[in-house]
Amino acid sequence: MGRDRRPLKPEELQELRDRLLKRRDELWDEIRQDLFNRLGDEYQGVIQTIKDEEDLAKADLDSDTVIEVLKARKKELESIAQALWRMDRGEYGKCLECGRWIRFKRLQVAPWASYCRDCKAKLEQVGRV
Ligand SMILES: [Zn+2]
Repeated sequence: MGRDRRPLKPEELQELRDRLLKRRDELWDEIRQDLFNRLGDEYQGVIQTIKDEEDLAKADLDSDTVIEVLKARKKELESIAQALWRMDRGEYGKCLECGRWIRFKRLQVAPWASYCRDCKAKLEQVGRV
């Protein structure tokens, strides 16, 4: 514990939101690239329009391929979506286990983190995360 367990400043929140959005964009770039590689030029036009899971569902691509491509990134995409959702509700930055503030330095490395480092370590030991 210490003085770095404190609420986030607005500019820190903004920085973390930018990081989350940037990471989400990177993941979708990877997904599009992966789809190209697997499905080929024939689908290029459709794949280019995909920006989120809704687009992906509408694109009507081979479902096994879609599932496989998403699978590798689904967990991270969900963590990002949840972090953004908590931000919008003003609940972002507190550990979901102990309720204390997560250090800004930790969030800079992993802005999708839901737990402080202590709790994460404890939860990992008992296999809850
Ligand atoms: Zn905690």
